[in-house]
Amino acid sequence: MTNIRVGTIGGGQLAMMLAEAGEKIGIELYALVENKDCPAYYAANLIVGDQHNAQEVENFSKQIDVITFEFENVDFETFKNVTTPIYPNLNALKIAQDREQEKMLFQKQNVPTTNFMIAHNAEELATAIKSIGIPCVIKTCRDGYDGKGQKVIRGHIDAQLVWQELGGKRLIIENLVAFEREVSLIAVRGRNGETAFYPLTENQHEDGILRISKAPYKNDTLQKKAQQYLDRLLTAMNYVGVLTVEFFVVGEELIANEMAPRVHNSGHWTIEGAKTSQFENHLRAVCGLPLGSTEVVGQSTMINIIGTMPDIQEYQNNPQAYIHDYHKTERAGRKLAHVTVIA
Ligand code: AMP
Repeated sequence: MTNIRVGTIGGGQLAMMLAEAGEKIGIELYALVENKDCPAYYAANLIVGDQHNAQEVENFSKQIDVITFEFENVDFETFKNVTTPIYPNLNALKIAQDREQEKMLFQKQNVPTTNFMIAHNAEELATAIKSIGIPCVIKTCRDGYDGKGQKVIRGHIDAQLVWQELGGKRLIIENLVAFEREVSLIAVRGRNGETAFYPLTENQHEDGILRISKAPYKNDTLQKKAQQYLDRLLTAMNYVGVLTVEFFVVGEELIANEMAPRVHNSGHWTIEGAKTSQFENHLRAVCGLPLGSTEVVGQSTMINIIGTMPDIQEYQNNPQAYIHDYHKTERAGRKLAHVTVIA
């Protein structure tokens, strides 16, 4: 038997969990990493190299059958000489890297999203805040994650100061949605266009970081809407792999916030809580294998461990709790592990 070799750019916990899922189905994960001190060390084959160097990315690509990603902020120039198949395609990543492009895609595909305006300087920022109205949210168009690079505005502000504070780069100004809850939909599309959808997951964030996910969130109307929206996005981008979209729920409406072209933190519960995890299905999709069942096997709650590791004995004493340690050193705001409890 020959294993299929999948390469990821990056070796964080998503690569680690992709590697763990691959082991069960004859897929070996190779991760291009800057140094070996990373979560993927525990499960993947690490290739040390510079992710920003085209020659090193090309060399890496020659050792594997398929390239995929565990984060969207990759450097496109580095793939210019790569002939190994890349999934999802680079165009999908380009859109997902940039909140402006993402919003334009949502609009084009009739996926409801927040009102928004773009500012290229402090004057445009002041005009946009006036036009969108207060309260609003200001985000950098690129490079934001886990609530970084954004600011909620609830009263009068000095646009010049905020422009500088957020790095003096293109900004998106959105209305602050008074949502009832946040949900995400994880979808997967194979190389042959086959699709599968997990049930909606309900997510709780604090300071912009995901804390708790619960699945399934049962609402037939919203599930149907979310699937229709993702189906359109997947087709429009000719997408292959797992795609996640986060939504705000307002009544019976879904308002798309953002998308991630990869396996997602709000889908970690699928490792124990679904017949096929998001990690396995992502690998199946990018390798051209049939997709696995997304059926759930219970009610899951996933808790992110952030900043400091707790005493895990409490979880060890619960036979329905599963601990995933990312082997990272403690640091404020850092995702160190997650625990999924199945009921
Ligand atoms: P994001 O980085 O866009 O996912 O934002 C992180 C979190 O900030 C979201 O999960 C929401 O809890 C909150 N948030 C972001 N944008 C908005 C918005 N336009 N209205 C209300 N809450 C928002």
